Amino acid sequence: MRRRFIIMKEKRKKKKLCSFLLCFVMLSALVIQAFADSEVPLNDSLTVGVPLNRSPIFYINADTNEITGIGVDLMRIAAGNAGFEVTFRPMTEKTLKDALDNPSYDVILPFGSAVESTSGKPSIVSENIMQTPFTLMTAGSKTHPPLNDLHVGMLSSLAAGAETVRQLYPGMEITLYSSMSECVKALRAGEVDALLHNSYVWSYVLQKPAYRDLTVQPQAMFSMDFRAGTPDTPEGQRIIARLNEGIQALTDTQRQAVILDHTSRKLYRYDFSDYFYQYGLIALLIVLLLIILLLIAMQRVRAVRKWHEEKVRQMTEYDPLTGVYSMNGFRKRVEVLLRTFPDAPYFLSYNNIRDFKYINDSLGREAGDELLRFWASKSMKNLSEKDEAIGRIDADHFAVLRHIVSEERMREDEQNVFAPVYNFFLNQGINFRVQICTGIYVLTPKDFRNIDVDHMLDLARVAEKRVRDSRKGAFEFYNPDQWDKGKRIAEIINYLPAAIKAGDIQVWYQPQVNYETRMVTGAEALCRWDHTKLGWLFPFDFIGTLEAAGLIFDLDCFVWERVCQDLHRWNEQGKRKIVSVNVSRDDIREDRDISVHFQNLIQKYNLTPDQLHVEITETAYVENSELLISTTEKLRSLGFQVEMDDFGSGYSSLHMLKEVPVDRIKLDLHFLTASGDSEKCRIIVRNITRMINELGMKMIAEGVEQADQAEFLKSIGCAEMQGYYFYKPMPVQDYENVNERI
Ligand code: C2E
Ligand code: MG
Ligand code: MG
Repeated sequence: MRRRFIIMKEKRKKKKLCSFLLCFVMLSALVIQAFADSEVPLNDSLTVGVPLNRSPIFYINADTNEITGIGVDLMRIAAGNAGFEVTFRPMTEKTLKDALDNPSYDVILPFGSAVESTSGKPSIVSENIMQTPFTLMTAGSKTHPPLNDLHVGMLSSLAAGAETVRQLYPGMEITLYSSMSECVKALRAGEVDALLHNSYVWSYVLQKPAYRDLTVQPQAMFSMDFRAGTPDTPEGQRIIARLNEGIQALTDTQRQAVILDHTSRKLYRYDFSDYFYQYGLIALLIVLLLIILLLIAMQRVRAVRKWHEEKVRQMTEYDPLTGVYSMNGFRKRVEVLLRTFPDAPYFLSYNNIRDFKYINDSLGREAGDELLRFWASKSMKNLSEKDEAIGRIDADHFAVLRHIVSEERMREDEQNVFAPVYNFFLNQGINFRVQICTGIYVLTPKDFRNIDVDHMLDLARVAEKRVRDSRKGAFEFYNPDQWDKGKRIAEIINYLPAAIKAGDIQVWYQPQVNYETRMVTGAEALCRWDHTKLGWLFPFDFIGTLEAAGLIFDLDCFVWERVCQDLHRWNEQGKRKIVSVNVSRDDIREDRDISVHFQNLIQKYNLTPDQLHVEITETAYVENSELLISTTEKLRSLGFQVEMDDFGSGYSSLHMLKEVPVDRIKLDLHFLTASGDSEKCRIIVRNITRMINELGMKMIAEGVEQADQAEFLKSIGCAEMQGYYFYKPMPVQDYENVNERI
């Protein structure tokens, strides 16, 4: 029993050993199998490098942002058939040959045949995935030369394909371009005869609106293989071998479907340039239209704003009842006018209706308003809108800025404006005579320099109060003497044009002599005015006024012309003379070239320039030396003699003598003879004369009244003289009778 038990135990032991051995053998087999499997280093993922922007073969799907295309889809199917999981990566290298040297790709697409990498490594390619037909594209329907003489353009990414083409057509010249747009540019410029690419690409590219002028030449030129490639290494060989299995499993139906998916079934995607090409003109027109609309809108906004501002201005600057200026508007208007016409004689009146309250209370407010409106309208009709103004500055108070013309004008105003106002109610059968109290303030030069309308009105109001207190309805001046002055100024300014026309202004001549030779050498033209109202006027009475009023040029032009007429007449009579004319400092302005004026005059009257001497007063040179000097230079260059008048009378500086290029100095004796020590005068005159002589300038002394002055001047070397001692200024007829010898 025990033995049977031992035998059984032995048997059990053997059985255990056997099962252990079996397990060991099976495990070993599994391990061996696992080791055997690990001899294949391939895993199932495959990184495929592909070019981009070669729609429809390789491109980015704009919706999914994934790499897609005929080449991509076929490769994915073939690789899938071979059990690979593929990842496509955009090739950053310029050429396939460069990409072969990048170890991060497992395979690269597309190869026609195996090529060497840039670094010289051999490559291995898969079986053909598809046939790609290559065709030519030309600009328009242009015929191209035979293939062997053809110059074609290709994309540089097709460099490997270009090599195949070169083998097929050795005579063909190929130029590579980096982009399709450059290819097309070269084709259009005639640099190449045609472009070469696969037909699938053309079918896509030609949908681009800008390429509508390009034509695919119908006959396929040749087909090119489309293979995957990788460096020729054992690993590469294994990948290609496995890929080939997948490629073999690709059916033609699958190929057709994929090609259709990316060609006929896929619409061309417009990019910005396409839209611009297609709709650019319309877009431009729309933009232009929008700009025009915008401009019109802006214009309207500006017009509305202006209208609004004008409305506001009207409201603040005009009196709604009468339509004349309000106080505010009147103040502004007066300021503008005084700045614009700084030399016009003006008065400012303050007018007040006596007992206006009574009118309102007894005749009614409306009657009062009517009266104000009537007065305003009468005044407005009487005033010049251009340079006068009226404002209703308060209830029944009107202010008027008016030119001073003459006493007659005042009387006319009384008759035309005031009288109808006085009679306003009487004319309506109401027994009430309106009385107006007027205070007048005459503006002084200071009022133009420092414009203070309120102050002027205050002064006019003071005069108005005087009238009011006197219980007489009339007018009073605040400053009657100023009124006389203003009137006189007005009488000069306003009468000038008529005076010139009527011959009231005459040119007189004062002979100039050489005291040594005792000959009359010339004359100075001096004007005189036989004024209709004021009697005979001398230059000092009106030259300054005309200068201030900006009218002196009118007078001088008249004098110069008259002098030239006289010179012309004397020339005709064989009595050639020389005359000096005066030029005011105001005649010389940036915008007025008096040298041209003088030249025209001597041409008109057939004179020579040396017959006219031009006198410019010394002070003018001090005030505006630059312009005066250039004018002097111009006059002298035209042959006129220029003289510095009144030397010594003003603020002459000796420095001026050096700077100013005049021909003759006219020494003013008045400043010496007026007062003082005659010995000192002699010393001064002697030294001035010596200095002028030494400077090489000519000289004449004016204001010579006595024989001893003449003798003295001669003794110190100043023989040219002008003065009452010889002759006073005289009318032209008298001057014509003056003997040439004194
Ligand atoms: P002016 O050019 O210095 O002219 C000389 C002034 O001195 C003249 O005064 C003349 O009559 C006066 N005169 C001449 N000899 C004597 C004399 O011995 N003693 C005295 N006391 N005076 C003498 P008039 O004609 O009154 O002219 C005064 C100024 O008016 C001129 O001074 C000149 O600057 C200016 N003038 C005269 N006519 C014209 C003109 O047609 N146009 C311009 N712009 N100014 C003129
Ligand atoms: Mg003079
Ligand atoms: Mg003088």
